[in-house]
Amino acid sequence: MKTIIIGAGVGGLSAAIRLAAKGIQVQVLERLDKVGGKLNLLEDAGYRFDTGPSLVTLPYVFEDLFAAANEKLSDWLELIRLEPVCRYIYPDGTGFDTSADMPTMMQNLEKFSPGSGEDFNAFFGHAARAWRGSRKPFLESSISSPLDFIKDGIPWTDLTALLPLPTLHGLAKRYFKDPRLQQFIGRYATYTGSSPYSAPGTLSTVMYSEYAFGAWYVRGGLYAIAQALEQLARKLGVEFRLNCTVQNIQTENAIVKAVQLEHGEILLCDAIVCNADAAHLYEDLLEKNLDPRKQKLEPSISGFVMLLGVRGQTTGLEHHNIFFSADYQAEFKQIFTELQPASEPTIYVCISSKSDLTQAPSGCENWFILVNAPPTGKVDWEKEAPKYATLILETLAKRGFDIRERIEVQHLITPTDLEQRYFTHRGGIYGSSSNTISSAFLRPQNRSQTVRGLYLASGSAHPGGGLPLVMLSGKLAAEALTKDYL
Ligand SMILES: Cc1cc2nc3c(=O)[nH]c(=O)nc-3n(C[C@H](O)[C@H](O)[C@H](O)COP(=O)(O)OP(=O)(O)OC[C@H]3O[C@@H](n4cnc5c(N)ncnc54)[C@H](O)[C@@H]3O)c2cc1C
Repeated sequence: MKTIIIGAGVGGLSAAIRLAAKGIQVQVLERLDKVGGKLNLLEDAGYRFDTGPSLVTLPYVFEDLFAAANEKLSDWLELIRLEPVCRYIYPDGTGFDTSADMPTMMQNLEKFSPGSGEDFNAFFGHAARAWRGSRKPFLESSISSPLDFIKDGIPWTDLTALLPLPTLHGLAKRYFKDPRLQQFIGRYATYTGSSPYSAPGTLSTVMYSEYAFGAWYVRGGLYAIAQALEQLARKLGVEFRLNCTVQNIQTENAIVKAVQLEHGEILLCDAIVCNADAAHLYEDLLEKNLDPRKQKLEPSISGFVMLLGVRGQTTGLEHHNIFFSADYQAEFKQIFTELQPASEPTIYVCISSKSDLTQAPSGCENWFILVNAPPTGKVDWEKEAPKYATLILETLAKRGFDIRERIEVQHLITPTDLEQRYFTHRGGIYGSSSNTISSAFLRPQNRSQTVRGLYLASGSAHPGGGLPLVMLSGKLAAEALTKDYL
């Protein structure tokens, strides 16, 4: 049987590897000139920039993917554990480093704000129960109803930790007295493209996964992941067609038959795995009567990215750094309600050359700056981008890190660029947000409910966005397909 995969993002590559390892003929069609999707690379004047993901979590998911092809992850990629995990800096200049070593983490927090080490310990316990309750029935299984959690016989205490209410911010308030720590916990909502003031408290699992399994970097930069997945897929016999845009999916009696390419060519197939964003699938690729959605997909948070080649070395920063804003709630209101860039944004700075000298010319640094941004729709980014970049650099200067005179390379990526480059719904980083209970728990399923032979593997489908979850999405789609056809 022949399977076509639309898109060579991590979800598509992961499904391709698993299907080819089962002996299925797989062809991957990708509209860009290289694989990886949002996991991408830009090189300029000796600087290397990962343009999307900068942090690897849940490394066991990566190991599991290579094991499915009888390979060892460590033979393909060198994962490096980062300690500290991240430096958090508040507007008054105070801050702390986080650690995936519990005694160090508690000590650092106690020093920063007496009592908060114990608060973190209690919160971590809650998050561990939520993780235990959700890992198998949610992350590693296809679900069609919230009742699927109960069917798996999860202990009652774990189920209560899974309750969507309060919101993540509400939950943080229950456990932490210090509002600065509430802000720290709230940040994890953004890992699913959401606001801590609307996303369910269940997202405590995101924080848990970072500190229970550690924060990782890949030697040579994260784009090495995409390259390794492509090589492994090719080794298994997967065929790639790059610069190849799928125009639509052709069906007969709601059964997959073929895809039609941009220039009219038709490729027959028995099954399709769609790695493209679910909104693009429903709105552009499928016939309207096959769209199963009862409501529009909630857009994920987008991002404004600055890639800066910086001369010299900066002291006082780590590999990952967060400069928090003074008013987090106002920031998310601007982003999700007013659909405007935050006037005083939280700024994430990743300098991977601090851990890997191959990423910048000798004595220099590769700065990746990411600021949460609204889904596309209201902002003319072509006009706003240079002004917003200036505001971000001024903010960093006021916070003691004035790099303006040291910048020798600069590239900006706006939400509009993300939308146009990857066909991602309204420039979303993570497919859809988890800002409502249904958008958090009932994303589009991995097996299409309306078209036989169609499967979904992407950050916009179940179980969600971010590299490990997208890999799991590929796994669930491949499992559903092999169950149906082999
Ligand atoms: C700035 C940024 C920072 C991020 N940071 C992190 C991080 O630190 N850690 C983390 O885990 N995750 C992070 N993410 C999220 C992560 O990158 C995504 O969740 C993940 O890469 C999405 O993979 P995917 O397979 O769902 O789809 P995508 O990467 O979106 O790939 C889909 C592919 O399909 C192709 N395609 C679409 N339509 C068609 C068509 N009609 N025909 C042919 N091809 C088509 C696209 O060109 C694209 O290559 C970040 C993302 C961004 C943008």
